[in-house]
Amino acid sequence: MSVLDQSKSYFKYFEEITKIPHGSYNEKALADYIENFAKVRGLQYKRDEMDNVIVYKDATPGYEDHAPVMLQGHIDMVNEKNNDSDHDFDKDPLDLYIEDGWLHARGTTLGADDGVAVAYMLALLDANDVKHPALDCVFTVQEEVGLFGAANIKKEDIRARRMINMDSGGETHTSVSSSGGRRSIVSKPYRMQDNTLMTYQLDITGLLGGHSGGCIALERGNANKLAIRILHDMLIRGVNFQLVWLNGGLKENAIPRECTIQFATDTPETRLSELLVESVEKIQTELEFSDAGFKAALQIIPTAPQAMDTKTSQDIIRMIYLLPNGFKARSMKIQGLTTVSLNLGVLRTEEGKVTCYFSIRSPMPGAIEQLSDEIDEVASIFQATTEHCADYPGWNYEEHSPMRESMRQMVKEYFNADLQEHAGHGGLETGVFKGEMPDMDIVTFGPISQGAHTPDECLNLESFERCYGALCYWLERL
Ligand SMILES: [Zn+2]
Repeated sequence: MSVLDQSKSYFKYFEEITKIPHGSYNEKALADYIENFAKVRGLQYKRDEMDNVIVYKDATPGYEDHAPVMLQGHIDMVNEKNNDSDHDFDKDPLDLYIEDGWLHARGTTLGADDGVAVAYMLALLDANDVKHPALDCVFTVQEEVGLFGAANIKKEDIRARRMINMDSGGETHTSVSSSGGRRSIVSKPYRMQDNTLMTYQLDITGLLGGHSGGCIALERGNANKLAIRILHDMLIRGVNFQLVWLNGGLKENAIPRECTIQFATDTPETRLSELLVESVEKIQTELEFSDAGFKAALQIIPTAPQAMDTKTSQDIIRMIYLLPNGFKARSMKIQGLTTVSLNLGVLRTEEGKVTCYFSIRSPMPGAIEQLSDEIDEVASIFQATTEHCADYPGWNYEEHSPMRESMRQMVKEYFNADLQEHAGHGGLETGVFKGEMPDMDIVTFGPISQGAHTPDECLNLESFERCYGALCYWLERL
């Protein structure tokens, strides 16, 4: 039994792809489906070794002299489920249901991100009642894990130089920029020695965290930096440290909410507690309106048999204290847009090294370079090594965009609304395409959905239907 109205092709294809497991790195079956879809309809296509697929469709008669349009979306979805769900993402179809006009998948993500784009492109490739210029339909893989599929699309395989990315919702909203970025890693080696001193554990908890693209300008506390700041406050007030280990954060692109550091010291516990209270009071005042849940706790734990020497411990505390972090610059053109930031997302003690993992973000390569240099300089003072990798380009705001103007007009006529422009600090595939094809004129468009990347993900069906109509209306006028 179908859940969606099968007489409408975008509904039919959306439901169809929810039966094919397609989490990131597991896109082969869906790529097979798309390849076969093109073959059966006699459409030209290209599939690469990563399973990206491009399907080409000729212009409808009368549109041969209109410039081609690229449509694009990613075919991978985020596999998330509730703890009590026994869904197997490797083989089970999603269990769809409708509630108050919203489509859900029972206990799991729905994959509307970015199944809506896949369904729209398949519906358009299938249609013979829609007028449009020549179409390059680009289905990418591994978006959710690092925009890897998009990075493998070659310029020579794309005829179009105007593009509609369909990986952002909101009907009348469009993105006008995205951030570029890189991952930077600082490693400081250490050796352990025997320890007999009293050992303590410092725990930072209660912080809000958040995505380092969207939340970096919200003055939220970074657990790694705050833990080190507390130790540094103690260090300059005469406390001798012998670090045992440090561990904070989960991902470099998430602001860390928790951090734990164990250390040994000969400073009496009463003195440590006194200093801790002083630091905590300062930090609480600073975070009063942005991250009020901040907590720091110190406890005595069983004496660690080994700890780092005092000099290395001091170096590690001073280095992390000095390493740059957080919001750095904003746009003076677009209100509220962060243009440069970095996040010390992860702190680890592993294989004889203390390692700091950063995510740097900016649409401007020069700014990324400058922050990398700053990290290098600080690291070199403390004989630490650095590595910069996983670069992805940004999409800088463009004053002049005929595609944006055509969308503005479509939104006016079709939705009777004004186009809402959104400039973000997150990374998007649009940035990757802009890097490969700087002359590409890009807009983003999509229906209303909620809860992406969580089991609460749902798609507004009226909006899904309305946006397909809008897309057809728009293509007819491009
Ligand atoms: Zn997406």
